[in-house]
Amino acid sequence: MNESKTLLQKILPYQNSFILTFPFLERYDFITCGMILKTKSDPTKTLLRLIGQKDPKLAIPEQRHTKKILPILNEDDLNLLEKESFDGVFTKLKNIFLCVQVADCIPLFVIAFEKRMVGLLHVGWRGFVSGIVKEFLTKAEKLFKIYPEDLIIVLGPYIKGCCYEVSCGVAALFDRDMLNFNKNKIRLDLGKALFKELKKTGVKKQRIFLSPDCTFCHPEHYFSFRREKDRSKRMLAFIGISEGS
Ligand SMILES: [Zn+2]
Repeated sequence: MNESKTLLQKILPYQNSFILTFPFLERYDFITCGMILKTKSDPTKTLLRLIGQKDPKLAIPEQRHTKKILPILNEDDLNLLEKESFDGVFTKLKNIFLCVQVADCIPLFVIAFEKRMVGLLHVGWRGFVSGIVKEFLTKAEKLFKIYPEDLIIVLGPYIKGCCYEVSCGVAALFDRDMLNFNKNKIRLDLGKALFKELKKTGVKKQRIFLSPDCTFCHPEHYFSFRREKDRSKRMLAFIGISEGS
């Protein structure tokens, strides 16, 4: 059986469940991942209950729309999350659940199946423009010899081109084919821009998956910062390598 066939078989069940419906929790092979969607209860507590694993460690960065990414090489590295802000985390360690908080921004899940690494980035337009994707790829290569062609990337639900109005100044930072122009308004599809960028860096396009859902369009499932303004809460995206895998 060739490598691509094996990989496809690995991804397909994952794609159908994880990407299209974005359930609360999905276990796949050695990976546990998903999103705590719109909920009245504390998303962190909900996550811990769902994981149901003995003493799981959560890595929840203080996000600042930067390109700063923290590799977690040992449990002590988790302490750095208390001291500095980061917009991405990645690890090969078991039982550490990487989290990012989102409400319109993109939770970008990274999986290297063969090299057993997971990552999670928080990407808004500022992070994208400052080069968070390249920053992650550079670090993953340097530390783990993981290359773009090793990766599966999943973009979780985010505010899409139907609803994400941007200023002329922001629009000017993006290629024209990422923008919609309609009645003096400009809207951006940041997921499309990420897809293009990832392809350019060498990630295979058949390994990049985009959630079809727009957070602004679906108040029944998602919080949206643009829709709810200051009242908006955040959802919690997560991914980790399960203990015992
Ligand atoms: Zn929308």
